[in-house]
Amino acid sequence: MGDDFARRLLHWFDRHGRHDLPWQREITPYRVWISEIMLQQTQVATVIPYFERFMARFPDIESLATAKLDTVLAHWSGLGYYARARNLHRAAQIVHNEHGGRLPEDIEQVQALPGIGRSTAGAILSLALDQHHAILDGNCKRVLARYFALEGWPGKTAVLNGLWDHAERLTPRQRSASFNQAMMDLGATVCTRSLPSCGSCPLSADCRAHLEGRQADFPGRKPKKTLPVRETVMLLLQDTEGRILLQRRPPTGIWGGLLSLPELPAGCDVAEAGREQWGLQVEEAAHWPPLRHTFSHFHLHITPVHAHLIATRAVHDNTWLWHHPQDTAPGGLPAPVTRLLDRLKVDPIG
Ligand code: SF4
Repeated sequence: MGDDFARRLLHWFDRHGRHDLPWQREITPYRVWISEIMLQQTQVATVIPYFERFMARFPDIESLATAKLDTVLAHWSGLGYYARARNLHRAAQIVHNEHGGRLPEDIEQVQALPGIGRSTAGAILSLALDQHHAILDGNCKRVLARYFALEGWPGKTAVLNGLWDHAERLTPRQRSASFNQAMMDLGATVCTRSLPSCGSCPLSADCRAHLEGRQADFPGRKPKKTLPVRETVMLLLQDTEGRILLQRRPPTGIWGGLLSLPELPAGCDVAEAGREQWGLQVEEAAHWPPLRHTFSHFHLHITPVHAHLIATRAVHDNTWLWHHPQDTAPGGLPAPVTRLLDRLKVDPIG
């Protein structure tokens, strides 16, 4: 059955698959690696311009490994999930320092690099070097879960292992790269999350979900849980020149290493906290409408407070930076901070 599955899929891929994506030209392990990391949580259409800009600035592993993290984050700004960019940077440094600047060709060594799991390692080595490895990204999971009507949420180890077994068994030794690309393309363009186009699918004759009319049941959903809410105050502290105080976040944790607005506990007295925490004399001007930002494990409820700096003692802290909202941000910024700074551009409060 595996051969027939692969034969039908490859036949479809040759006619309808995507063959002209930027990382499918001048194929190298480095280019495929960057594209796979960008594609992990982001759609192809969004990734393309980011990929082109990233490649223009970091054309090879050496240029990425020797760049400042801030520059890398700035080129990632807007793609989200910044841990991907930090891992990419660290992995490039490891490849540069320990592997002579060439991405290893052994799957275990590739998988040992930060940010590269089993599926991404398989994708890089199969797509770039046509090695025989299975992959299992979100698109492949959906196709296989439907084709076999595999019950359960793929976040559960037993379900995931079942999917990997099917993927390993079906991936042919010949044309592994095309097969893997075909699985991703089928999932992205035909076996879509909602309203799959089963009429144009090469697998419809024996796809169990299709035959049973149960496409919407697969893959199984994650059991629902209510996310906790955390509260914070983000301070838009403006000096007499209209500049805003930014603060670099610690390297780990949410928005690790990004520039952000200084934060204070919800409900605190801003003037008092500014004086006690930073030795700054600040005067609260206005509370802005709250924002909500959702992470995978909690909602962040943000109360933006605009304030003026009245007087300052000298601040000797290299994690701080005064930034004029009209200027380009000097590094990656979290999405809600970008929204607040954008608002300040159109609605400056003197
Ligand atoms: S027949 Fe439909 S549900 Fe089954 S794999 Fe194809 S598109 Fe997906």
